Amino acid sequence: VLLEFSREKLKLRAKKVKEFSRELVIVKLRETREKKEENLLSVFLQDFPIDFVWSFLFGFYAFEEEEMSTTSGTGAVNYRNGTHRSSLRTQPSTSSAHKPSSLKSKSLLRKSSPAALGGAGGSKSGSGGDAGVPGRVRVAVRLRPRNGEEMIADADFADCVELQPELKRLKLRKNNWDTDTFEFDEVLTEYASQKRVYEVVAKPVVEGVLDGYNGTIMAYGQTGTGKTYTLGQLGEEDVADRGIMVRAMEDILAEVSLETDSISVSYLQLYMETVQDLLDPSNDNIAIVEDPKSGDVSLPGATLVEIRDQQSFLELLQLGEDHRFAANTKLNTESSRSHAILMVNVRRSLKPRDGLSSESNGNSHMTKSLKPPVVRKGKLVVVDLAGSERINKSGSEGHTLEEAKSINLSLSALGKCINALAENSSHVPFRDSKLTRLLRDSFGGTARTSLVITIGPSPRHRGETTSTIMFGQRAMKVENMVKLKEEFDYKSLSRRLEIQLDNLIEENERQQKAFVDEIERITVEAHNQISEAESRYANALEDEKQRYQNDYMESIKKLEENWSKNQKKLAAERLALGEKNGLDITSNGNRSIAPALEEVSELKKLLQKEAQSKMAAEEEVNRLKQQLNEFKKVEVSGNSEIMRLHKMLENETQQKEKLEGEIATLHSQLLQLSLTADETRRNLEQHGSEKTSGPRDSLMSQLRLPQIQDPGNAEKPPVARLFEQVGLQKILSLLEAEDADVRIHAVKVVANLAAEEANQQQIVEAGGLTSLLMLLKNTEDETIHRVAAGAIANLAMNETNQELIMDQGGIGLLSSTAANAEDPQTLRMVAGAIANLCGNDKLQTKLRSEGGIAALLGMVRCGHPDVLAQVARGIANFAKCESRASNQGTKRGKSLLIEDGALSWIVQNAKTETAAIRRHIELALCHLAQHEGNAKEMVKEGAIWELVRISRDCSREDIRSLAHRTLTSSPTFLTELRRLRVDIR
Ligand code: ADP
Ligand code: MG
Repeated sequence: VLLEFSREKLKLRAKKVKEFSRELVIVKLRETREKKEENLLSVFLQDFPIDFVWSFLFGFYAFEEEEMSTTSGTGAVNYRNGTHRSSLRTQPSTSSAHKPSSLKSKSLLRKSSPAALGGAGGSKSGSGGDAGVPGRVRVAVRLRPRNGEEMIADADFADCVELQPELKRLKLRKNNWDTDTFEFDEVLTEYASQKRVYEVVAKPVVEGVLDGYNGTIMAYGQTGTGKTYTLGQLGEEDVADRGIMVRAMEDILAEVSLETDSISVSYLQLYMETVQDLLDPSNDNIAIVEDPKSGDVSLPGATLVEIRDQQSFLELLQLGEDHRFAANTKLNTESSRSHAILMVNVRRSLKPRDGLSSESNGNSHMTKSLKPPVVRKGKLVVVDLAGSERINKSGSEGHTLEEAKSINLSLSALGKCINALAENSSHVPFRDSKLTRLLRDSFGGTARTSLVITIGPSPRHRGETTSTIMFGQRAMKVENMVKLKEEFDYKSLSRRLEIQLDNLIEENERQQKAFVDEIERITVEAHNQISEAESRYANALEDEKQRYQNDYMESIKKLEENWSKNQKKLAAERLALGEKNGLDITSNGNRSIAPALEEVSELKKLLQKEAQSKMAAEEEVNRLKQQLNEFKKVEVSGNSEIMRLHKMLENETQQKEKLEGEIATLHSQLLQLSLTADETRRNLEQHGSEKTSGPRDSLMSQLRLPQIQDPGNAEKPPVARLFEQVGLQKILSLLEAEDADVRIHAVKVVANLAAEEANQQQIVEAGGLTSLLMLLKNTEDETIHRVAAGAIANLAMNETNQELIMDQGGIGLLSSTAANAEDPQTLRMVAGAIANLCGNDKLQTKLRSEGGIAALLGMVRCGHPDVLAQVARGIANFAKCESRASNQGTKRGKSLLIEDGALSWIVQNAKTETAAIRRHIELALCHLAQHEGNAKEMVKEGAIWELVRISRDCSREDIRSLAHRTLTSSPTFLTELRRLRVDIR
């Protein structure tokens, strides 16, 4: 399978492997190496999916290739290749397809570059997180704890950063409410131990060096933030304080064998682009030499000290530190302006069996004949960089501008190289400075590089801290450079809070409901108890009463018995005595009873009398009742008589009006005739006698025309005839006549004409509407007002006319007419006109803003059912338009009717007996209820009960079902009905 895959495909598959899984592979690899397990691949094939194994394999081969280049002689190459083959061959028999044939695999494997399949170190060093990003600088940020001074000075302030080590994030506080978040490879808090810092920052690099790679560890940051503490701390007083240099050497010494391997160290200082030897201060201008072939960098002039134990290394570091201090004093510089560079060269000679690849070789007997020595060389460079704080360009610290520039040169060149590497740029400007030239072979490519950026917590140095963080961010690979914007998300917070609030509200409602229910239950229970107690009490009372009655009866009986006994006894005694003394005693006894009997009979008589008088009284009452009934009947008939008379009166009035109309017609006709006559006369006078007969004829024909020449006109009402004869313009001109009578007649004529739909357009076109409106304004006469308003009402049935009326200020005129009128008929006309306008969707807001609704509601003061019916009709029309608008989504919020206070009137009159009013009101209620925005108000005003009633009792089936529908489709109504346990089904 391996062979059948093209290289590209393999690359693709390898890339797919998840990063965490790679870490697992690495860990596994380390474990197996430690356990000296014979067959590495078998372990991987068992534990990991095949994708994985391949990716690992390619990383592994890449590594092997690199290793070859560090060994010398072609024999080694042969050996390595042999190892590849054998290691592949030794994989378990999980699948024969995994066994490649030697030649093809070799070429395939050779082509797989580390760049394509993850960094060489990635597969070996244990820091596989950036595998696939060769030469990527791993960046850790370390926060120094507050020092004594900061504890006091910044006591009231928060640190300028907040670390989230578990997320590998750092939040930089911009101000009290805003932070920027950055991701790093490692985030080390102020509590991070030196051991932990070593393990995450330096250990992978040191392991790489032991495996034959070069590596660099650098610390960058503002002076005083802990660069030297992190890298160079000797920890002689407290072992826990040991810095990276010391720990790295410990690890190296533990790993190498002193017989076969060697460790040599140089310690240098770079200041103003000059390399000084910290182990030999006299040696203060060391040249950097690069091997043009291998690219190896060396400093032949620098002291190289062999290290064989930790103690000698510590002494060397101490010496270097002392010399650094001395050199700085001599040069009058600060150590914070120079870079300190420790170089550790590790050279290991490996016997084949010690080699990693030979470990995995289950068939070692096959390769035993090829056993040349292997040498692995690795170089570790630890750089304690100059303070990152900006140097004052003015040179106030005793430097010239030139000096200031060159002090910074290496640092800025380093930044450029790091950025170039991070961006995978093809050109890395190593040549720009001494420092970067020195790091050339230990930086990028196959080398592993770790950068610790050190920051302090003080908000006073936020600027420097920010620039340090940005330096670190640029060092991360571009696509890895996540600057997470974590703006405080008020929206989602408010959403969350809203949801919480809603939940609380719901809960509260439920509790309230439960509370009400509980109270109800208790009340019912109490009622039950009371009625129970009452009935018990009543029963007991009854029993008691019964008992007493029985007792009473019994005692009466006893008494009677006793009495009769005594009587008998007495009689017996008397008899006995009488036998002795004769009968007179008996007669004496009779005499004593006689007066009592008399009394009784008297009482009886009295009683009889009483009974008689009672009967008489009852008879009297009955008689009176009958009389009352008769009176009532009379009253009813009287009422109907009155009604009849009323009607008659009305008829009479109508008759009178009609006659008046006719009179007006005749008047106008007369007027017209006289006008025509005048004209004719004038014509006659002008033209002399030549045309004597013409005008007279025409006049005559005018007069005769309707009756004689057009018999159809004979049927037409006089007004229409007049219209045809006289002409509209003339009639309208009479509306402005001086004579009030003429005006009245003219307006009546126009009103009559306007009542016919056919005439309406002509009237309006001729300016009749304007004239009618003017009449409302310019006259005081109530009749004119009434008739004109009626005409306007008729014209207002047409939509175009409605707009015209509004445009000409009709609402204002109608309103003021309504306000001044007393006559119900005038009010009826005005209300009718406004009611018509109310039915126009387009005029709703204008109508209302000009006081139309208010005028309408104002007219209810008159109380006449005809007026009220028009008002109700207007309201219903308006409500209908509103509900239409809210259905189309063009209307929001409460109804304008409700805002103008119509609702209470509606509710008050909803039960009126007058059918016309009632129907309109019911419709209005239904329309209002269709808009949920009105529901609350309708509940408050009690309109909901009218709706319930309508939905149950309305005689018109369509209104009934409309009311029902509106009730059931409004959540507000439903809630209210449920709350009050009203069932509307
Ligand atoms: P730099 O080299 O960046 O100028 P130093 O390493 O000299 O800074 O540190 C300045 C001071 O802060 C020293 O006294 C050092 O002991 C202290 N310090 C720095 N980092 C830490 C830390 N992580 N824990 C405790 N003390 C620290
Ligand atoms: Mg320092």
